[in-house]
This record gives sequence, C-alpha cells and structure tokens, in this order.
Amino acid sequence: MSRVIVIGAGAAGLMAAVAASDMGHKVTVIEKNEKAGKKIFITGKGRCNLTNDCDTNDFFDHVARNPKFLYSSIYSFDHDMVKAFFEENGCPVKTERGERVFPVSDHAYDVTGALTSHLRKAHVGIQFNTKVQAILFDKPKQVRGVRLDDGRELPSDAVIVCTGGLSYKSTGSTGDGYRFAKAAGLDVTPTSPSLVPFEIAEKWPEELQGLALKNIEVTITPIQNEEPEKDNCHSGKKAKPVYSGFGEMLFTHFGVSGPLVLTASTMCDFVKYPSGFRLLLDTKPAIPENELENRVKKIFEEAPDRHYVNAIQSLFPSRFGDIIARLSGIDIGRTAKSINSKELGELCRLIKAVPMTISGTRGFDEAVITKGGVSVKEIDPSTMESKSVSGLYFAGEVLDVDAVTGGFNLQIAWSTGHLAGSSIR
Ligand SMILES: Cc1cc2nc3c(=O)[nH]c(=O)nc-3n(C[C@H](O)[C@H](O)[C@H](O)COP(=O)(O)OP(=O)(O)OC[C@H]3O[C@@H](n4cnc5c(N)ncnc54)[C@H](O)[C@@H]3O)c2cc1C
Repeated sequence: MSRVIVIGAGAAGLMAAVAASDMGHKVTVIEKNEKAGKKIFITGKGRCNLTNDCDTNDFFDHVARNPKFLYSSIYSFDHDMVKAFFEENGCPVKTERGERVFPVSDHAYDVTGALTSHLRKAHVGIQFNTKVQAILFDKPKQVRGVRLDDGRELPSDAVIVCTGGLSYKSTGSTGDGYRFAKAAGLDVTPTSPSLVPFEIAEKWPEELQGLALKNIEVTITPIQNEEPEKDNCHSGKKAKPVYSGFGEMLFTHFGVSGPLVLTASTMCDFVKYPSGFRLLLDTKPAIPENELENRVKKIFEEAPDRHYVNAIQSLFPSRFGDIIARLSGIDIGRTAKSINSKELGELCRLIKAVPMTISGTRGFDEAVITKGGVSVKEIDPSTMESKSVSGLYFAGEVLDVDAVTGGFNLQIAWSTGHLAGSSIR
C-alpha cells in the first residue's frame, strides 16, 4: 500500500482518488477551495455534459491536440465505464442530441456527489482550504511528498497533480501544476485560451451584438506574415484553411461567439500565426453562388423601384442586410433596378464570403479550456507517470491535451485521472 497525495479535487483529481483508493492505497486529496468540483458545478450550463456516447474509436477525432497520447487512458476507462461508474454511485445518466451524456437530474452537483460519496465510503479524506505550495523530491528523481502553503510537509510515495489549467480562475485553476512540473524539470508547452470567443478587428460586428446566425458556414485561414519564414504557410504559398465548419454564430460587443466559433478556436494557433486569421462567413451555404444570383435577381425584378438594400433584407435576419449593403460599397440609396450584373455578382460573392479579421481571442476567464500544458513527451501514456521523476503523476487539463465541446474534455479528465490512480505501485 502506497501513500498517495492527489492535488486538486476537480474531475481528474476525484477520479484519480477513486481509482487509487480502489487499488487499496492510502489516499489524501488536497484542495485549495472550500469544496470539491467547483468547475464541474458550472459545466454544461450547470447540467454537466459528463461524457460523449460516440464510439470509442471516434473519440480521438474530437481531440484537438495529442489524441494518440490518450489511447491507453481512454480505452482503459471509456465512456461506457464512466457511465457505469456514475450509475453505480447514485447518479443515473441520459444521452441527448449529439451523443452528449448528462445526469438524469440535470444537476452537475450530482456528478460531484457521486464521486465524493464513493470517496467517503472508501474513507478517503479531502483537505479543503489547503493549498499545495511545492512538491518535494528525495533525490532529484523520486517524489517524497508535498509542502503546503502554511509550511507543513506531508509525506507520500506518489503525488498525482490534477490542478487543471488556467481557464475560469475563480474555480481554482490558476496554473499551479505548470509551476510544479517546471520545478521537477519537465517541459510545459505554452498555454493559451481555447474553446473561446474571437475578437474581430472590424467594428461592424459590434452593431449586430446579440444577433445569432443559424445554419451558416465559416472558413478560417491564417493571415500570412509579411516576413517570409520556412513554414509553408509563410513562404508565399497560399495558406490552407485551419478550420471549416457549419453551425451557429453569435455577434457580440467584441466580435463573435457561439458553438461554431468555440470549436473553431481550438484550431487557431496565435503563437504560430501572430498576424491572426481571416474568417469568411458564408451566410447561405446551402445555395450555390449562381443560384443565389438568380434568386437575388428575381427579388430585384419583383420590386425594381425599391431600394436594393430593403429588397435584400428578406434574405437575412434583422439588420444583417444593412451590413452586407455597406460592405458591398454599393450606395444604399440605389434602387434594385439600378444594380448591374457585375454589382449583382459581387453582392452575391460577398453574401457567400463575408470577410472578418480575427485579431485574437478573449482571455482565460471566458475560455472553456486551456490549450497547452505539461508536455505529453514527459509523461508515460500507459501510466500518466513522469518519465523522469518516479512517483510523480499528472492527469486532466494540466496536460497538453484538449478537445472540442460535447463531453470530451471531462472524459479526458476521468480517463487520465483513473489511469493515474490505478497505476500507482
Ligand atoms: C464554463 C465551462 C463549462 C464546461 N463545460 C464542460 C462540459 O459540459 N463538458 C466537458 O466535457 N467539459 C466541460 N468543461 C471543461 C471541463 O470542465 C474541464 O476540462 C475539466 O473540469 C478539467 O478537470 P481537471 O480536474 O483537470 O481540472 P479542474 O476542474 O480545474 O480542477 C483543478 C482543481 O485543482 C485545485 N487546485 C489547483 N491548484 C491547487 C493547489 N496548488 N493546491 C490545491 N488545490 C489546487 C483547484 O482548486 C481545482 O479544484 C467546461 C469548462 C468550463 C470553464
């Protein structure tokens, strides 16, 4: 039996503690907040989308970074096992649209409750309002315990770092795990906000704030640097899109948000492309350009004396037609019959490719997850143990793995936490 300290009572930490205690180890969880699972509580808008029912082989398609690193952890504790765990621990679950799994109660606190009640039964203590300040090493290569911020030292044979990333700091994730990893000599990949809204350089999206566009398509391409670099995308060749997707987009006071934008943000690397990205919005993805031209032509012919800007309003939800007219550069005072075929063609091309410049993302406080983290090259994927420091394990968002929305990020936390806990010797 080993003495195990788990740092962090979030999704990964609670599941790591469950697995380690089930293996017969003596487990202590240290949590700086006053309660467990503060972030779980706000997931899925308070309902907690705890996993996704997709085929396990398809799971990895939803992981943005380092999917192969997750093979062992996901296959050894997959979504079916996660569902079974919660069902067995008093939290029945249901599957909704998009294979998203939620507690039947629709209450995220029932998810945390299932984990804490399992730990209570296993006599695992959680020390709340207690912050780990440093991890202690015997020789440079062996964990011997942790030091708390009141100076006390707690001995242990293994430490599992489940401190989360940097998003939504108020839930306790303040990046302490990166500091622990660096102090142990491990590499940490640069971090940035992900699953996060975009800031748009143009001012017009602000005028549409609150407007949601449904059934639209966006294509996002890096803006090439003026300085040519070795990278293909910077060498004068046309940059390839990093993302193309269909769905819903919301205009805000700073730019754009909504499910499609959040997913797209996982593919936009601003460290690699500091000049930002070009977003092209196709407001009519189901209609080919020539068909759209015929349709607009017909609208103009039906009301030749109307202002063309009023005539095209019927194609869009409120106010968006004004923006299209303004961006087209065609005087809004002109009538439908005065629009020539060249102008008609340009107008339709614009409707199918409204350009926006993504200048950056919102900050960590609005990001669902953190991109980057403890480098997966430092970690044995079959145990979650550091390759260089014996007894030091990492699980959850602190690692350089992240996925799109749909329950995949919590599944990563459950699986990596479970594998770390059950791998303790
Ligand atoms: C608004 C929002 C909604 C989300 N919705 C979903 C969803 O529906 N489905 C989904 O799959 N994912 C969702 N996610 C992502 C998901 O919540 C996270 O990926 C997941 O919770 C990460 O778990 P974790 O245990 O690694 O980290 P965390 O949940 O961040 O837990 C880390 C814990 O460590 C503690 N800690 C940190 N440092 C110390 C220290 N030095 N000493 C002691 N304790 C410490 C923190 O207080 C915290 O409790 C959402 C995220 C957000 C922000």
